[in-house]
Amino acid sequence: MTLDQFTIIALSLLLAGIAFWIGLEFRPEPKRPPLSDDPLTIDEMVFESFETSRQKGWHEEPRTVGDLIALMHSELSEALEEFRDGQPADKIWFRGVDGGPAKPEGVPVELADVVIRIGDFCGRYGIDLDEALRIKMYYNRTRPHRHGGKVL
Ligand SMILES: [Mg+2]
Repeated sequence: MTLDQFTIIALSLLLAGIAFWIGLEFRPEPKRPPLSDDPLTIDEMVFESFETSRQKGWHEEPRTVGDLIALMHSELSEALEEFRDGQPADKIWFRGVDGGPAKPEGVPVELADVVIRIGDFCGRYGIDLDEALRIKMYYNRTRPHRHGGKVL
């Protein structure tokens, strides 16, 4: 059996209608340029963190603010565990992974994970992190010496 052009168009429209009816979207993922070697701006870091997280499926199920903040904590704990395992604070090392690129590890990488999770969070909630940093840093400059009187 051969399909003429009319039949192909009619079947395509029917499939598109069914897809629309059941809520499927055929939207290709936006093509992102490769990361450049230039320093990231805060906005670029937020966008990259959010977009990668979304494209890798981490936005498909709802997460609470508490979940997301706990995951930020978990990356700091991973940084501490690296140090407890004897890794110098400034050392990035690589773990071999079968069939894939070597996985970067170490305190600096876990700190990067913290920043990436914060960037993703800011992307999800539309937080202008650059503005928040500037506001808080400006305020911190105005604070007295060892404000609050805490020992640590
Ligand atoms: Mg990590």
